[in-house]
Amino acid sequence: MKYLLFLTALLMAVAVIVFFFFHGKGSKETGLRAAKAADGLDHYMYELVFRPESDELAVTLTLQYTNRTQDTQSDIVLRTWAGAYQQYETSPASIDELFDSCYPEGFSEGGISIEGVWWNDTIVSYSFDDEASTVLRVPVGAIAADESGRLRLRCRIQVPHCAHRFGESNGIYQFGNALPVLSVWQDGVWHTDEYWPIGDPFMSECANYDVTLSVPKGWMCAATGSSTSKSSGDRTLFSFHADAVREFGFALSDKWQKAEKKADGITVSAYALSKDGAKKAAEYAVKALRYCASHYGDYPYSTFTVCSIGFPFGGMEYPQLVMVSNSCFEKNSSDTLELTLVHETAHQWFYALVGSDSFNQPWQDETLCEYTVLGYVKERYGTDSFQALRATRVDAAMQDPLPLAVTPGSPISYYSSYTAYSSVVYGRGTAFLLDADEMTGKVDAALKAYCDRYAFRIASRDDLLTTLCDSCEADLYPLAVDYLDTLM
Ligand SMILES: [Zn+2]
Repeated sequence: MKYLLFLTALLMAVAVIVFFFFHGKGSKETGLRAAKAADGLDHYMYELVFRPESDELAVTLTLQYTNRTQDTQSDIVLRTWAGAYQQYETSPASIDELFDSCYPEGFSEGGISIEGVWWNDTIVSYSFDDEASTVLRVPVGAIAADESGRLRLRCRIQVPHCAHRFGESNGIYQFGNALPVLSVWQDGVWHTDEYWPIGDPFMSECANYDVTLSVPKGWMCAATGSSTSKSSGDRTLFSFHADAVREFGFALSDKWQKAEKKADGITVSAYALSKDGAKKAAEYAVKALRYCASHYGDYPYSTFTVCSIGFPFGGMEYPQLVMVSNSCFEKNSSDTLELTLVHETAHQWFYALVGSDSFNQPWQDETLCEYTVLGYVKERYGTDSFQALRATRVDAAMQDPLPLAVTPGSPISYYSSYTAYSSVVYGRGTAFLLDADEMTGKVDAALKAYCDRYAFRIASRDDLLTTLCDSCEADLYPLAVDYLDTLM
């Protein structure tokens, strides 16, 4: 009895030490990559007030900006993607393939109204380059290399009744790519890509974010970053902080149920229309995070959030946040929810951690995420399941005829339908990585090296291909050209 007690006490002591050693180690290290990368980045501060009764969001943005290029800049360009939702002609949700799903009650007007722009506290003029009001140009005199300044912008965002990444659908308000964000400066100019309705035309540099959001009491918010909240009267004020992220995405609802899990020092939250759905999403998200971390390196942030919204896509990625379609939570859709979450979670490495030009090189993050889905299925469910999924997702796409003059390496503006885009980019593009892995067996290691080399930066197509060649110790350029650029 004594011996047993001693042994029990000894085992308990060892268990406590082991728990604190590993747990403490995990919690301390998680999020550290982002915190380290945060040093010296631009800083966004958004003050947001949400009024569901008028479908409006009032926005005050204060952006501390430093010109890190070698060029003198005479203006600053912000991407105001919400502007495109004002007109039927420019809305990314109004193409034939999407219109009925996105606007079930007919076209609904959204948009952005600018109330004022200040540069270093002086009011300045501004103009939109485009009919869709997505390229807001602010002349600021001259900002020399390494010079800093403060941009302030006040605007009002009108939320359309639209089941898209930005819009309201069945009482859920989704603000994907809705807030003004800096464009990217490359080769002496700001990117001014069109809000193309197929694919994701967005690109931005990493920055630090502090956001306050006032909502009516009872509303929940799924968002980028870690949060605190306090209620006073009939309003709740959320405060969010995020280090080294490319943008701030969020969604709001007073109908969700929430589930939360802690895994390896990361707080994983899921918001869905049922408690069961939220629990299942949190569990799959943890599995997906663990798979990606073990293959591509630690998850860089301390929180990861999933929310269920209404839109005709499977999911959409934001830093530390993924939006998943309500349809993935329906009965018998468990597999779809799991695989969608793996794809969107992989974007935390391939888009959030390593950025790329998803207008001109959409394959550069999408195929990496599809490749991850196949790898996850192989590891978790075995080779037969992997082969079956490969047959439907990749091999079938290789049999589809290519649309006219389009290859997986084409920009998104070459596509006029999601059906063709999915087949060519997600299907044929992924065949390149699978083939490269069959030849070398080292693609996972190469993708980890890619994440290490280009963390918190924007990588070019060449950066990815060079890393693949280096790590796989093979000249994969001919294979890449064959799969990505060859019409056949
Ligand atoms: Zn994707």
